[in-house]
Amino acid sequence: MKESKNMNSSQYTQNRMPILFLGHGSPMNAISINTVTQTLNHLGQTLTRPHSILMISAHWMTKGTWVTHMKNPKTIHDFYGFPPELFAVQYPAPGNPELAEQIQKHVTQPKIEMDDSEWGLDHGAWSVLKHLYPNADIPVVQLSLDMSQANEFHFMLGQKLQALREQGVLIIGSGNIVHNLKHIRWEPDAQPFDWSLEFDKWVKKQSEDRNFNALISEATQTEAGRLSIPTPEHYLPLLYILGAAHPKDELYFDIEGIQNGSISMRSLRFE
Ligand code: ZN
Repeated sequence: MKESKNMNSSQYTQNRMPILFLGHGSPMNAISINTVTQTLNHLGQTLTRPHSILMISAHWMTKGTWVTHMKNPKTIHDFYGFPPELFAVQYPAPGNPELAEQIQKHVTQPKIEMDDSEWGLDHGAWSVLKHLYPNADIPVVQLSLDMSQANEFHFMLGQKLQALREQGVLIIGSGNIVHNLKHIRWEPDAQPFDWSLEFDKWVKKQSEDRNFNALISEATQTEAGRLSIPTPEHYLPLLYILGAAHPKDELYFDIEGIQNGSISMRSLRFE
């Protein structure tokens, strides 16, 4: 209740919320304590507390663009072969149907479809939220990835969502800049592949230079890029965050590094 009162306060009309791209990596990060999860925990304590969260996860792939519209989104365990304690994780954050309706009203092109029962929170969402906001007391709405669309579409939709930042909504993209499961290494001391380091560094440089056009249209023009993005879904959430960035934002990389040889955990925070 306190939260909804805050939404109308001048505090949020004057302040622009930060936006985050987060690498989620292996679902095991959800129940691990490491530098990535500790940094997420710290961020959750230091960022301006959001009224609601709009999550764009690599794991909700659809035809058309959908937004979760339920009061109590379910925790989805969308993976196989992991230990029972991971399947036992629940993230009982409330939804925010009013925010979903507001997004539908505000974004007329593309048409945003309402999801009342199908989805909820997938592991791309809750595996990071669990560390950011462990109390699950901030409402979360998920937006799907229309996989029939090109990179420009996702960037453009991110631009249309930018206005939500002035209403206390924290927009989070959850994916991985480098995500190649075919080359994944599970040994604890796994060294990053050269191409994963190369592409991760390229994304860092283009982001710092605000060369978003390169990130939209040139990412898979190199061998390193093609190996890092064998399929687009983990890269696309980044494009929403670039779209929602403001020219006056500073850019911070709170988390860096490659897990399992072929998964970049690099985060971007525009604030
Ligand atoms: Zn994933």
